[in-house]
Amino acid sequence: LVRLRTRLARSQNVLGKGLLGLLSRDHLDEDTWDEVEGTLLTADLGVAPTQELVARLRERVKVLGTRTPDELRTLLREELLALVDPGMDREVHTEPGVSADGAEVPGVVLVVGVNGTGKTTTTGKLARVLVADGRSVVLGAADTFRAAAADQLQTWGERVGARTVRGPEGGDPASVAFDAVKEGIEEGADVVLVDTAGRLHTKTGLMDELGKVKRVVEKHGPVDEVLLVLDATTGQNGLVQARVFAEVVDITGLVLTKLDGTAKGGIVVAVQRELGVPVKLVGLGEGPDDLAPFEPEAFVDALIG
Ligand code: GDP
Repeated sequence: LVRLRTRLARSQNVLGKGLLGLLSRDHLDEDTWDEVEGTLLTADLGVAPTQELVARLRERVKVLGTRTPDELRTLLREELLALVDPGMDREVHTEPGVSADGAEVPGVVLVVGVNGTGKTTTTGKLARVLVADGRSVVLGAADTFRAAAADQLQTWGERVGARTVRGPEGGDPASVAFDAVKEGIEEGADVVLVDTAGRLHTKTGLMDELGKVKRVVEKHGPVDEVLLVLDATTGQNGLVQARVFAEVVDITGLVLTKLDGTAKGGIVVAVQRELGVPVKLVGLGEGPDDLAPFEPEAFVDALIG
């Protein structure tokens, strides 16, 4: 939690400082409120949430009359928190399921997203968290299109102590995913994490492929989570990607990566709204420990600085 705060704070408290500076001006005229709005938009909060937030802030500042820095900070914190956390289940579910013939199946997590967003890295880091928690993990390298993806995942697997199931390069992703869960069942593993391919330029292909991966895996038993990985530094582009993926599969949670490298943390609010799905994890760097549960309070504190 402390780490999340310091990591994010380094790049993001620009937002809080900017807003608190604006709000503590003697005269809050229209120009100042426009600046507040501009600052929030720059942070990728999105148009509708920004307008709502500005309206709430205007109202509350008016009621307050005189404003101490502490009062302003509390007010901003409360209003941002209400936007960031409308009350969502942020747990990553990995409970074992039951197959059609009554056998126990491991928890299954599909990790989806556009290439380059940090899918493979996130899968590896998540495996590490689970293994550290005493769970046995099997990795499925179903990104058979990016040449290095399976090697990269296997390296993570070796590092954290998880077996990696892979197929031939260019092979059928769904069959690798199927085999990975099969292996998980046979080994009596607790969780199977499947890294998938994401080539957004061929939307129909992606649709067919991801849909198929999920259907094929479900022949073994239920999928617990479909985590969509989004790169926070791509800002509003992430929203476009989110929409496309949400058309293909039911997304159950979001992972926002590279938050360490952006001041655009507002994207959390924008994507949660867009999909009605919570941000469950955040990526804060390239290292094995740089994956953290998303904690709204710590996040808002980091935003405000
Ligand atoms: P994939 O194509 O979606 O599987 O993406 P990769 O997992 O290969 O990640 C792409 C690049 O982003 C790699 O260089 C990763 O080390 C880097 N990366 C992933 N997550 C993070 C993060 O949270 N922060 C930073 N700074 N880099 C990240």
